Amino acid sequence: ACGMELMRDPQYNKGLAFSDKERENHYLLGLLPPAHLTQDLQVQKVMQNVRSYADPLQQYIAVMGLQERNERLFYKVLIDHVEELLPVVYTPTVGEACQKYGAIFQRPHGLYISLKERGKILDCLKNWPEKLVQVIVVTDGERILGLGDLGCQGMGIPVGKLALYTALGGIRASGCLPITIDVGTNNEKLLKDPFYIGLRQRRATGKEYSDLLHEFMSAVKQAYGEKVLIQFEDFANHNAFTLLAKYQTTHLVFNDDIQGTAVVALGGLLAALKVTGGTLADHTFLFLGAGEAGTGIGEMIALEITKQTGMSLESARKKIWLVDSKGLVVKSRWETLQHFKRNFAHKHEGCKDLLSAVQALKPTILIGTSGQGKTFTKEVVETFTSYNEKPVIFALSNPTSQSECTAEEAYHWSKGKTIFASGSPFDPVTYKGKTFVPGQGNNAYIFPGIGHGVIISGAIRMHDDMLLAAARALADQVTKEHLDQGLIYPPFKNIRKISAKIAAAVADKAYDLGLATRLPKPAELLSYAESCMYSPTYRQYR
Ligand code: NAP
Ligand code: MN
Repeated sequence: ACGMELMRDPQYNKGLAFSDKERENHYLLGLLPPAHLTQDLQVQKVMQNVRSYADPLQQYIAVMGLQERNERLFYKVLIDHVEELLPVVYTPTVGEACQKYGAIFQRPHGLYISLKERGKILDCLKNWPEKLVQVIVVTDGERILGLGDLGCQGMGIPVGKLALYTALGGIRASGCLPITIDVGTNNEKLLKDPFYIGLRQRRATGKEYSDLLHEFMSAVKQAYGEKVLIQFEDFANHNAFTLLAKYQTTHLVFNDDIQGTAVVALGGLLAALKVTGGTLADHTFLFLGAGEAGTGIGEMIALEITKQTGMSLESARKKIWLVDSKGLVVKSRWETLQHFKRNFAHKHEGCKDLLSAVQALKPTILIGTSGQGKTFTKEVVETFTSYNEKPVIFALSNPTSQSECTAEEAYHWSKGKTIFASGSPFDPVTYKGKTFVPGQGNNAYIFPGIGHGVIISGAIRMHDDMLLAAARALADQVTKEHLDQGLIYPPFKNIRKISAKIAAAVADKAYDLGLATRLPKPAELLSYAESCMYSPTYRQYR
């Protein structure tokens, strides 16, 4: 044994927290200055450093660098300061980090599988040192956040997302594997960037693309078995829907952009119903944006309506209307509509814009998933809210600049009537003496708990009923006190508790459906879910 090795291994390193006994027994004498710091003091030190950087990118580098040096301290910092660090480790800062990944790249993290590794993907997986992989987050970098094609530099996304799986959902850090599949990029700027880390060619498409992905999916199953969760992240919508549909019957797959978004939105809507009254089926939903988020949420709402009412999926979908960049999605556009929009192409006259669609359909719930800021104009909000006693507005597009409207606009233009939630965070708003706290429909409420739930049950497939269970579990945690302030999501600071409850609900459903393989089923799923959560506290070395 060599003390230097212990210190240089991020899984074992404790820095100044090594005790005298450990220093003596593990050949660390002389390798560390004499002082001792507790893990809590180390956390304080890290946070002081992070806060001293005015530039978010520097904060990102400081926090993520810690993951490479001292993993347990990294997760302790993240768990103890989750609300403050979420925007650093994930959106919006991770977006800037991906754009500059080539320049800030220090050492590789995760697996890079490119067209060059065709035929050798299983060898790539075998080179990964951990054998007990539980969650893979994989991207092809084509649609990173709202930033578009960042090619191989999209790696920041799987890395960041998995850090959240561990910090928020309690997935074992060593069970997490970030992967980027590099099939080239169509981003001209990156292709010319001397520091670009990816393949310098335009994107492969068609059979070349699908063959590489198929080899990857097969290799994962061969290397890690049936129970590994494969989360697709930030694929462009022309591949995202296809991949999800193709592999959901043979693998345990999840797409957070489609399904995670859908679950967190449905959770918020179920909570909002406690204020609006009525059931989902009593409402008319109008979406601005008919992509992964919009159609994903639409399908999830329709599915929940079928469960609540026994209505057919087709009838349930009739309550949901979409507006895309060409106007209202209607039957007469069928021939030229992308397949994922067709389920919502109802018989109706066309409307060229959102305002005319609001006037024609008089929806009760308005949801923005367009990626276009300022599209819920004063006129749209006033018109929409004039029809409703308790209108619901979700402005889900990120980042803040792309939000369909701000919280302040929603509360003011609706004269304080609306129930509002957004994708990006907004501060509380006071209107005529009443303070409203806008909810943030962040996917981070959902995916860590779902991940933990499938792991503790050993689920081998994802089932829509497991997703619905997650949405209901989230909504169940919204209390009357929250609703009184306008909040339709529970406070994020309790996220590990929230995740445990979601995990228990998801696992319970997996057992019901016969998809769980960890038998016998634990008697108390919630306490079991809690007890299985990864703790970043240092271990003592004998
Ligand atoms: P996407 O698949 O690219 O879909 C975007 C959709 O918006 C497309 O249907 C597009 O129309 C439509 N659109 C674009 N400009 C429009 C305009 N001016 N008027 C009407 N429709 C317009 O993207 P996505 O993955 O669904 O993401 C959309 C947004 O949702 C992003 O800003 C993302 O940040 C946000 N989001 C939020 C959350 C969350 O809050 N939890 C989760 C996921 C995504 P065409 O189909 O005609 O091109
Ligand atoms: Mn995403």
